[in-house]
Amino acid sequence: MKLDYEKLKEKDLLEEIKVEVDKSAFEGPLKCIECGKNMTKVKSSISLPDVDITVHFKIWKCSKCNREYLDGDQAKKLDMLLEFENILKEKTLKFERAINFDGQSFFVRFPAEVTKNWNKNIKAEIKALSSTDFFVHVHK
Ligand SMILES: [Zn+2]
Repeated sequence: MKLDYEKLKEKDLLEEIKVEVDKSAFEGPLKCIECGKNMTKVKSSISLPDVDITVHFKIWKCSKCNREYLDGDQAKKLDMLLEFENILKEKTLKFERAINFDGQSFFVRFPAEVTKNWNKNIKAEIKALSSTDFFVHVHK
């Protein structure tokens, strides 16, 4: 199935990523799953019409059958892009918390509803988007 980025819905993209990512071949050159030919990286773009943004990125494309694939890094970037789109569209879960101070550091408490499956070993990766905006990724 060829990706039509102009008409792509978020749901389709997520399903497509799950199907197309070949976990053993992230580095490339990738071989086409359909016909076995080597693929090349080509420029592509995805439009997010609700937020008036078009993003350019590279995909793997088969020169023979024109199938298009995302590798693992590309899929991660697109996942993050869709998360940011949801933030821009105000469609994300949002909560306001007081910033606490323990005498040395500032910290923020997460609501219990979102931390049910957390344990003591998880870490938070914080990316500063600006001096007042931060993206927090919680992981093992
Ligand atoms: Zn092919």
